[in-house]
This record gives sequence, structure tokens and C-alpha cells, in this order.
Amino acid sequence: MKIGNKIVLLLCLFLSANGIFAKENGTMFSSGNEKLRQRVLANNASFQRESHLLDSVMSKYMESSKSKEELVSDAIQAEWDDSVGSEAFEAYEGNWDTSGVNANRVAVKDVPDSVLISCEGYVPPVKSYTTSRFGMRRYRYHYGIDLKVQIGDEILAAFDGKVRVTRFDRRGYGYYVVIRHSNGLETVYGHLSKIKVSPGQIVNAGDCIGLGGNTGRSTGPHLHFETRYLGNPINPEKLINFQTHEVLADNYLVVKKNSFDWYYNKSTGRPLRIHKVRSGETLSHIAKRYGVTINQICRKNGIRRNSTLRIGQRLRI
Ligand SMILES: [Zn+2]
Repeated sequence: MKIGNKIVLLLCLFLSANGIFAKENGTMFSSGNEKLRQRVLANNASFQRESHLLDSVMSKYMESSKSKEELVSDAIQAEWDDSVGSEAFEAYEGNWDTSGVNANRVAVKDVPDSVLISCEGYVPPVKSYTTSRFGMRRYRYHYGIDLKVQIGDEILAAFDGKVRVTRFDRRGYGYYVVIRHSNGLETVYGHLSKIKVSPGQIVNAGDCIGLGGNTGRSTGPHLHFETRYLGNPINPEKLINFQTHEVLADNYLVVKKNSFDWYYNKSTGRPLRIHKVRSGETLSHIAKRYGVTINQICRKNGIRRNSTLRIGQRLRI
């Protein structure tokens, strides 16, 4: 059963059980309720079907000094802990930094190859058309996909997971949310007008995590959506069809040269180098220095031969 369904079920069981027991004798789960409990289990098909879950929460409740809310939250946390045992997830080695998108980034060269990511349970963050795709865009690389939204549209969590980051980045993502998923992926949702979750919160696929907006580096309301593994962006279109809003397959295999192709030189297969432009340099100087052609630099960086270089600009070689 999916983690989300289980959690909903637990919550329902708790609420129903409370209601019934409270009505019968005013106290919940007090001693002497065993017969009543048996009756509830016998009479209610859904209780019967999942009686082991009810049993576990009820017995905990009877023994525990914790409040109902605390126990439900424990149960949700336990479900999350159960669901994160995959190889893909464990690669994070428990690193959990809430300070930003890249806080736990593992260099591409150190990312394990051939990691299988389950795409089951995907819910489109927003069902709308693409306004900009992953890839080189003028001077900077675009590490996500842009989807048209209206300000205030509900933005949904793409998979079950736990919110790692909620922040404001004035010059970039605007108000944004990062969620780590039990399948090992992280997703990023940028330019929101409002954030509806907080770090540490466990969310189900399809939960509203914020509202669409136009904050940060954005020219018109859209959702900037990224899929990352160990901090490194993967073109979301390698996993998701943004026309049909369905995943391409049940699983996605992370293979470095394929998944992080933006990081490799297509002709040599070697990792790309980055050159930081210094005062007085021209494309011709830089091309000579690295033994490549001006055209190659232009193509990799989405610039023209006559583009003006800025000091400090980073060029992919
Ligand atoms: Zn974008």
C-alpha cells in the first residue's frame, strides 16, 4: 500500500475510533472497552480489513501518555521511515540541510551509476503547458522546466515525500519549496506566490504545497519545476511527459552520462570545464586556450560570436 494511503487510513481510523468510543462511554480506549472494540471490528468491514493497523495505534494509545495528535504524527513519521530504505534514498546518507537547493549536493563524479528511481504515484504539480524547457538559455543553464500558471493556482507535490527547504530567493527561485522523496529524487518548485508547507513536513503526492506566482527572477507567472538526484538536476522530461502529464515509465534508471548530460562534453564524453571570463578576454582567446573552436563555445553557452562577454561570466567549454 502507498504511504499516502496508509496515512490517510490511519487518520480515518483514529477519527472514527475516537468518535465511536467517545459516544459509548465518554472516555476513549479506557479499560473495559475490549468488548466494544471487538464489536466495532466485527461490524465494520473497513475496520476489519485493516484491523492490524487499528490494533497497533489503539494499543499504543492505551499504553502511552502521548496525545492523539502526537501518536498520529508518530505513525506518519514511522511510515515515512519505512518508505525510505531504498538504495536511491540511502545515497543521501542522512544528510538533511534545510538551507537551500544545493545544500546536500554530491558532485556528479561521485554519484553512483545505475540507480533505479521509482516513478510510481506521480501527480503533476500543475496541469498546464510548457513555456520553457530544460537546457541552455542565453547566458545561463536552465535546470528545470517552466509551466504556465495563474497567480494563486494550487501547486501539488509530485511524489510522496518530506519537505526539506522552504525559502525566499529574491534573485532566483523567489518563494520556493524543495521536497525529498522516498524514491530518492528531490523536486523543486519555484516562483511561488505563497508557500503552504514547512520544512520537515511529510506530504503525499498531490498535496498542495504552495500557490503559483511570479516571485524571484521571473517574467510572468509560471512554475519552475526541477527534478534532482543527490542535488544534481535531471531534465524532468526524461521522466515525465508534460503533454500528457504522465510518467514515461514506472521506473527511471539514473545513468550519469545520460541523466546529467549537461555535465558532459558531448563529443569527448569528458566532464565539461567552466571558464570564468576575465577582464580583456575574448572568445577567440578562450577558444585558443582550451583548444576548441569559437563555434563550440557559442553552441554550448547559447551565445553568438559577437556576444559581449561580461567579466565573471561562466562559460561551459
Ligand atoms: Zn524556469
